[in-house]
Amino acid sequence: MPELPEVETIKNDLKSNVIRKKIVSVDLGKPRIVKNRGSEFKKQLVGNEFIDISRIGKLLIISLKRGGLLLLVHLKMTGQLIYCHQGKYVAGGHSLPKLGSSLPNKYSHVIFKFTDNSKLFFNDLRQFGYLQLIKRGDLKKVTNNYGIEPLQFNFKPERLAEIFKKRTAPVKSLLLNQKLIAGIGNIYADEVLFAAGVLPDRQAKSLSNKEVKKIFVASQKIIALAIKHRGTTFNDYVDADGNVGSFVKFLKVYGRQGKTCFRCGATVKKTKVAGRGTHFCPECQK
Ligand SMILES: [Zn+2]
Repeated sequence: MPELPEVETIKNDLKSNVIRKKIVSVDLGKPRIVKNRGSEFKKQLVGNEFIDISRIGKLLIISLKRGGLLLLVHLKMTGQLIYCHQGKYVAGGHSLPKLGSSLPNKYSHVIFKFTDNSKLFFNDLRQFGYLQLIKRGDLKKVTNNYGIEPLQFNFKPERLAEIFKKRTAPVKSLLLNQKLIAGIGNIYADEVLFAAGVLPDRQAKSLSNKEVKKIFVASQKIIALAIKHRGTTFNDYVDADGNVGSFVKFLKVYGRQGKTCFRCGATVKKTKVAGRGTHFCPECQK
């Protein structure tokens, strides 16, 4: 699933391709992916333009030129945005075999066509992703569901301590809780906790100030580094140029179960915390 660094990468790449292009048609293959009525969705978008793209957590927020509307796009588990123009593909999200070679395909649920004949496909294998038009004034209601982001200016160790204090849940499940901290998913939660030397199943309230500080520092460092390297992509994920995000080479525990810990030589383990596959080093993390 794309996390903050991957969605940030998609946002930046789409911004340089779809902004200020007039939409001439919208095809809905799977209307339930769209949270609005299909006819209304088309009516508002055809003839309109994307004028800006921003992001909160893993949610893309596209501003439209007219109608006072915003288009929300969430890729969830297997969503994919692919921009296609004159044989050039710019894609982000979950990949499908042979990206772009046969578009549209059976997973292309929404297709935008622009006046220059370029197209933007929303593909989704498992269909958990969604698109939704909302009134500009309703954005606050949406963003209220998102917690603070690791790179936000007002993210401070004290703020993290406040989140952890009194909570008995495992620290990893709090890092994954988008209402508390936005943008961290399974990969980066594991990497942050390894870097901080904290076991993922530690009760949040049991963490010392020193440990909270280490989690704070690690979350900022890792998210910033991942954005710089266009995120982490595996065989099932490609970035907006169809390339793999190169953060994968920085992973210390995620996906490394059974392998030797780079730091101490012990064997990296995999378990389940908060219902998610969780990777950790039993020696480096306490
Ligand atoms: Zn270790």
